[in-house]
Amino acid sequence: MKFSTKVVHAGVSPDPVSGAIMTPIYQTSTYVQAAPGDHKGYEYARTQNPTRDALQNALAALENGAYALCYASGMAATDAVAKLLKPGDEVVSTNDLYGGTYRIFTKIFERYGIKFTFVNMGDMQEVEKAITPATKMLWIETPTNPVMRIIDIEAAVAIGKANNLITVVDNTFASPYLQNPLDMGATIVLHSLTKYIAGHSDVVMGATVTNDEAIYTELKFIQNACGAVPGPQDCFLVLRGIKTLAIRMRQHCENGKKVVDFLVNHPKVGNVFYPGLPSHLNHEVAKRQMRDFGGMISFTLKNDSMESALKVLTGTHLFALAESLGGVESLIGHPATMTHASIPREERLKAGLVDTLIRISVGIEDADDLIADLAQAIDNS
Ligand SMILES: *Cc1c(COP(=O)(O)O)cnc(C)c1O
Repeated sequence: MKFSTKVVHAGVSPDPVSGAIMTPIYQTSTYVQAAPGDHKGYEYARTQNPTRDALQNALAALENGAYALCYASGMAATDAVAKLLKPGDEVVSTNDLYGGTYRIFTKIFERYGIKFTFVNMGDMQEVEKAITPATKMLWIETPTNPVMRIIDIEAAVAIGKANNLITVVDNTFASPYLQNPLDMGATIVLHSLTKYIAGHSDVVMGATVTNDEAIYTELKFIQNACGAVPGPQDCFLVLRGIKTLAIRMRQHCENGKKVVDFLVNHPKVGNVFYPGLPSHLNHEVAKRQMRDFGGMISFTLKNDSMESALKVLTGTHLFALAESLGGVESLIGHPATMTHASIPREERLKAGLVDTLIRISVGIEDADDLIADLAQAIDNS
């Protein structure tokens, strides 16, 4: 089945009671049993919920995986995956990791004796050098945030397989429309559904998808034991969002290209970070592993002044100044003080995240209106 068909149909079937075409919101905490242990597969809603099941089945289909699990947020999904590890284990990850992931690794899991090494994953030799006999996991994010570096998933998976590691890919920025890491051999795909998959800036949720039955069983145990499950109403909203994922992503990509074309030709704009640009450091890898290039763009101004950057950040009208990304509406943000404030400045600079960097999430509005909005803000900067 093609992706545009899957997003509409995968995981959902008419409600057996009423024939309702949309999966009902099973707003219940428990399920009645005919006799002790004699039930319909549902006992308690932390453990199972039919609305969540439909969403999990849809997500598994979108990532070409066998098993998906949902969590109360993307960070709760990250928390569950990190709990596959034990004291003494080591993780190798990228030095421009999502700020919240960096924070949970260094501020929470290091307390429990797990060690994290952050390297430039654009260079696989650095990844190999960082692996020790205690390494158990590779944690990849691509495109990375906010300078849109692309990590070669197949090359990382090859290193992971050679060293018997669990390879995790945070696929939030790409979404399953642009790339499917399980097809490239990754062990686990992780999503913040909050972003492109839900797509309407109205839900916080996370998910993991895998083809590995043993890992799924362990993650399912952690999901139930730790309890960071999403509510059924939110599952319904994400299921609804998924139905338009393909057409939304098509528009995000088309608008992204037009905005990039405007930015690279603007005399006041300095560097533009977008994997679709032939001048992008990892453009060849992006072309190979992604079907298109998405709607996330970062840029600097030529004069590199904080004052000018702030004028752009506060001067747009359609682009709202806010954290997050992947919604239908366009957003503008300042990674150094917003999304990446929890990463120390030296670490940020190492990853190319300068203080004056501006990040935009291009929505699905008319590209001409978006460009006019950016043009007036940049001209006035
Ligand atoms: C937002 C985000 C997360 C965290 O997800 P939440 O739903 O906000 O908890 C993790 N990884 C990436 C790449 C993200 O953008």
